Amino acid sequence: MALTGMQIFKLLPKTNCKECGVPTCLAFAMNLASGKAELDSCPYVSDEARAQLEEAAAPPIRQVALGKGVRAAKTGGETVLYRHEKTFYNPTLIAGLITADTAADDVAKTLTDWHALQYERVGLNLRPELVAVKDVSGDAAAFAAVAKQVAETSEFNIILMSEDAAVMEAAVAACGFKRPLLYAATAANVEAIGKLALDNNLPLAVKADSIDGLVELTTTLTGMGLKDLVLDPGSREVKQGIEDMIALRRAALKDGNRALGFPTIAFPCEMAGNTDMEALVAGMYISKYGGIVVLSNLTTEALFPLLLERLNIYTDPQRPMTVTEGIYEIGTPDENSPVLVTTNFALTYFIVSGEIEASKVSSWLLIKDSEGLSVLTAWAAGKFSGDDVGLFVKKSGIADKVKHTELIIPGYAASIVADVEEELPGWTITVGPREAAHLPGFLKAR
Ligand code: SF4
Repeated sequence: MALTGMQIFKLLPKTNCKECGVPTCLAFAMNLASGKAELDSCPYVSDEARAQLEEAAAPPIRQVALGKGVRAAKTGGETVLYRHEKTFYNPTLIAGLITADTAADDVAKTLTDWHALQYERVGLNLRPELVAVKDVSGDAAAFAAVAKQVAETSEFNIILMSEDAAVMEAAVAACGFKRPLLYAATAANVEAIGKLALDNNLPLAVKADSIDGLVELTTTLTGMGLKDLVLDPGSREVKQGIEDMIALRRAALKDGNRALGFPTIAFPCEMAGNTDMEALVAGMYISKYGGIVVLSNLTTEALFPLLLERLNIYTDPQRPMTVTEGIYEIGTPDENSPVLVTTNFALTYFIVSGEIEASKVSSWLLIKDSEGLSVLTAWAAGKFSGDDVGLFVKKSGIADKVKHTELIIPGYAASIVADVEEELPGWTITVGPREAAHLPGFLKAR
């Protein structure tokens, strides 16, 4: 539970030395409580007080870092039950499964196919993060070989799936440098797998056949010194699966149960009879409350909607998606190319730039910061007024790139023409179409 300013104050030295940048320890405590200060700013906090403050400040669900490199990711760290209360922080990670009896050539082909599954949307690269390598025969050498191949020849990070500590140890030796997630510690192997994770500083998934069973295991493992745990309550039936996820989230957030304050892993690949159903189950876990989902295969028809669902759910509802203010080249514009201006709402940018691209008329697209609002909303809110747009165009430097003085503004902002003209004397302000879909015809007809 978060501490109040007064509770924090009681743990501070109370010398009012001002080294933290504020006049008193009380002011510092208040800033700390409201997230406006970092504990490190006070050099005199005792180790004991620091431990208490860090413990209190920790999110109720621990954030666990997985993997290395460009697809390294975090899971957990969530603080609310419902996205609209604040936001969700770390998107559900998506894994494809490869069994350890797969031939090296087939592994290579699968990795190539999966690597190609990347989609650009609103300036983001949407893609899966993980490959789950599953031991199927207890063959340590085969398991380690596939893990090594995935680690050394792909960007993917790894979940190592074996309940045999000796088999797991061989794979850790082969791919430990990629910080794989070990799956799983169970009642039968908790000491051995826990020690392996601890010795190699690796995150560890915990599997039980009930939530009570998870509490026992995580209590044992945290007692051994492990912190980065991931929970699998063992449910492989859809109704029980969703109930367990909700119960785990509520236990961590509402009851403050630290033994269950970890992200989760779910296995749609073990819960559905076909790939369509598997994708639906994965979708369920993305919305409630899977930290990682493992699919039997990654195909574009299953993956793409899941990535979009994930994007929607893990976008901060209080912060519109934006692009950076500035001049954007669409195609290969030159000094005679048209100049258009619009707002920095990401969706507006991508629709407008896409339509300009479709027109095959290379253009300069000026993006004005409108706090992430679309054209009509920004205009109505005074964030896309004629003065502002004129001033922005002046400062943007576009006049150095073109030898004409015509600016095309969105049709929905037609009423700002006079004000823009006043701010940009000598420029011709042309009103473009209201709908982006009409831009190609408009540009081609000029
Ligand atoms: Fe108090 Fe620490 Fe700030 Fe000094 S640096 S005023 S001891 S909180």
